[in-house]
Amino acid sequence: MGTIIGIILIIALIVWLMPVFVAIFHIALVALGLYCIYLIYQAIYFKSNEFLDIKNEIKTYADECNELNLHIEELKSAYLDIKHLDYGNATYTDNSTYNFKRPELKKIKQEHNTYECSLSVCKNAQQQPFKYICKYFNIGSDEETLEKFEKVFNDFSAAEQGKTLLKDKKDEIINGFSSRIPFLIRKLGKKTLSRKLGFEDIDFSNLHFPKYSFRYVSGGGNSSMNCDVVFDLDNLERFINYLSEIIKFRKSVAGQRALMTAQLRERIKQRDNYTCQNCGISIQDEPHLLLEIDHIIPLSKNGLTTEDNLQTLCWKCNRSKGAKTE
Ligand SMILES: [Zn+2]
Repeated sequence: MGTIIGIILIIALIVWLMPVFVAIFHIALVALGLYCIYLIYQAIYFKSNEFLDIKNEIKTYADECNELNLHIEELKSAYLDIKHLDYGNATYTDNSTYNFKRPELKKIKQEHNTYECSLSVCKNAQQQPFKYICKYFNIGSDEETLEKFEKVFNDFSAAEQGKTLLKDKKDEIINGFSSRIPFLIRKLGKKTLSRKLGFEDIDFSNLHFPKYSFRYVSGGGNSSMNCDVVFDLDNLERFINYLSEIIKFRKSVAGQRALMTAQLRERIKQRDNYTCQNCGISIQDEPHLLLEIDHIIPLSKNGLTTEDNLQTLCWKCNRSKGAKTE
């Protein structure tokens, strides 16, 4: 008896709410229709002469932005220079006679930035990540490694700064033309507009920051634990400090070796008046100028990170200098 009443009640409710469903359906239909109309309008606009004229006028700026974008992508690959040891390949097969599932064991794959370890190593790595990364990933705490990481930090910092500067520059260029671009196109399809104008997308993801993982999988393969260390700018700077503490390098003539830190980068720029020491362009000339810190005698030729060996260069000069010394 109770179930019949229940079914009747549900049917009554559905019938009673029917107009609401119909209304929602209509609204969705209208929205979809409007969106289609907008897409057609957008497609027609991007083919119009009016738009093509703007695109033509903007082309040199867009090319320049894209060039900077490419340069930023190159800076982000700095870390690849740090060589990893090749441990070789091996295959793993589970030959258990019984059907043990061992779900966690399947996680073990060959990843060169992951170290399979015991539970205690995994836990300790969490306490002292830098120490364990050096130990288990064969990163020597020597002067050479320190210099490599300083270069990575320098390039990554410039890349992070470059992304913001490039975005501002791009926005400024597009805003300069805003009076000639219809309101709806500007507001609703910002990304499409920038692409159609010939600007490449800026990649704001942080996936290029290297990650080291320690992973413990229990013998039975039923439980596991992970400890991940991401070398973002903050961790990189701290790692550089950590390495230098260990090395305690006091051999240089000056007695004290400066370290590439965010502070030092800023100090050098300030000292050089935010001006490229090669071509003389400054942020007064171009507010969105990407300035980089350059080693006058490169690290590869035993140049040190000391204030007298550092100078401010604009990204273009720094890039062409890099191309020459390679
Ligand atoms: Zn320059």
